[in-house]
Amino acid sequence: MDRTIAYNAASHTAVEKQAPVPASNLEKRCAEIGLKMTEQRRVIARVLSDAKDHPDVEGLYQRATAIDPRISLATVYRTVRLFEECGLLERHDFRDGRARYEEHPDEHHDHLIDLTSGKVIEFQNEEIEALQAAVAKALGYKLVDHRLELYAVPLNTPED
Ligand SMILES: [Zn+2]
Ligand SMILES: [Zn+2]
Repeated sequence: MDRTIAYNAASHTAVEKQAPVPASNLEKRCAEIGLKMTEQRRVIARVLSDAKDHPDVEGLYQRATAIDPRISLATVYRTVRLFEECGLLERHDFRDGRARYEEHPDEHHDHLIDLTSGKVIEFQNEEIEALQAAVAKALGYKLVDHRLELYAVPLNTPED
């Protein structure tokens, strides 16, 4: 019985996949740089483009296999590394021992990491941006890039 259900679910997925899916932002960027795209790479690219959080490889694998169960964890690793090497992805280390990924954003943002829940909040602050450039300038440098991560707990969290 389970087998039948699984088979039906699989064929249902197969039918859904035949419907034209508009190319994700990441797929378009891959095309722009002439990256050879397999069907599995497209799925992984789409999952990355759709991600509103900052998933690690395990999380990406779960989302990708929900679309195409044939995708292996190794393929997700390789593809993510390839996209990263091509400058399409940003890799983050939010100090929980897992590399997290996000599509290279069109607009710069920084991150606040909630240490109680692991939630990652994106923010933009013009004053901080200007201040960082000013600090670099005062040190005799032109700021070309930076990362800012705020590690925080909610204001109402009782101290241990
Ligand atoms: Zn910033
Ligand atoms: Zn982000």
